[in-house]
Amino acid sequence: MLLQKKQYRVHGLTGQFCDASRELIYRRSIHERVREEFSLAVSVAASVFGMFAIADYYLLGFTSAFYMLLTMRVVVVSLCLWVAYIVRRGGISDDRSWLHAVPLWLFATGIILIVPLRPESLSTQTTAVVVATMAFCLLIPNRLTVVAAASLYLNIGFLVAAVLFAKLAPIPTLLLSLLLIMGMVVGFCALLRLEILQRKQYALLHEEREQNLQLHQEIAHRESLEEQLRVLAERDALTKLNNRGHFMNVAKKLLQRSQADHVPFSLFMIDVDHFKQINDTWGHSYGDWVLIRVAEVCAEALRPSDVIGRFGGEEFVVALPNTSTSDAQRVAERLKQRVAELAFTDEMSELSLSVTIGLATTNADESNLEALIKRADDMLYVGKRSGRDQVVVCRDGLRQD
Ligand code: GH3
Ligand code: MG
Ligand code: MG
Repeated sequence: MLLQKKQYRVHGLTGQFCDASRELIYRRSIHERVREEFSLAVSVAASVFGMFAIADYYLLGFTSAFYMLLTMRVVVVSLCLWVAYIVRRGGISDDRSWLHAVPLWLFATGIILIVPLRPESLSTQTTAVVVATMAFCLLIPNRLTVVAAASLYLNIGFLVAAVLFAKLAPIPTLLLSLLLIMGMVVGFCALLRLEILQRKQYALLHEEREQNLQLHQEIAHRESLEEQLRVLAERDALTKLNNRGHFMNVAKKLLQRSQADHVPFSLFMIDVDHFKQINDTWGHSYGDWVLIRVAEVCAEALRPSDVIGRFGGEEFVVALPNTSTSDAQRVAERLKQRVAELAFTDEMSELSLSVTIGLATTNADESNLEALIKRADDMLYVGKRSGRDQVVVCRDGLRQD
């Protein structure tokens, strides 16, 4: 499916991606491998080309033709090894990639030049041309256009040299042409197939990577949605404290654990005093803002193990696991103090806020959260009736101010 995508379409004749930028990215991705393979192939080919000087000597002896051939071979081998060295060192960037073509043209020129100097060994040289054409195609990776141009130059040059210097008759010329064409076609097709296959493999790999990336993004998106849903289900929209339902779930578990561990569990109800007046004086949105501030201050005044929730309206509820009445009372007093210290600015600078808190601690055999809340709530209303702005404590059904 992805291979149909425009950017991954491969040209049927060049074996390259039709999209030039994609081709560049692909080449960069295989740059290191190509560098190594190219320099190795050129070094080996140069060495073999150099060693054919032995055949020159065997056929020509120490003649001027031999020395000319030797000079030519030394020049070709030296230049090729030099290019191989530069490529290995990483000296060929994408914009100088034409340098890959240099050794091929040098080899081709060298092979063509052998014909006038050793015309009698034409059949051996024909084999060499076919082998060189194959070697160009198979040993020089990822350079189909470069290889095709150099092969064409080698084969046509060799044919022309054979006709001119080896005085090839028309029929052998025709046979030689057919042989050379066959060599070029086979080499070209093999390389083209290789190039296309490599790019398809690359495109498939990228498809897999893109799909993986999309999958990860999708998972992250779902996780964030789940988190948002969880927050919506568990938090109070205004104060961001636990909502009543979630608080009840959490507090029930904490109460059960305290019971199992035989440790005290305290709970207090907080109610903002005369809150209605705030709404009536400054408006509902200011009332909302005061509620947010109170919630913040309460949450900050608590210990990490305590759990707070908005019970409804301007009432809050706090569960204090593993906390005795006296410890819970200290926490409640601190919380009441912090609310009283809340400073408001501008039009609300006159406001002095207070809360009334009703506190209850579990009996040894009590495991009912609702009953505990009821006792704390009763203490809250005792506090309201007796002047507000205070903490009222209930222990074992007895009231203690
Ligand atoms: P008391 O000291 O006896 O608690 O007096 P009170 O005025 O605080 O209590 P009352 O129950 O008479 O009023 C509570 C008010 O809180 C009434 C209601 O409009 C207001 N209220 C409840 N929920 C919200 C809210 O989310 N935002 C705002 N701004 N006001 C709220
Ligand atoms: Mg109330
Ligand atoms: Mg109130």
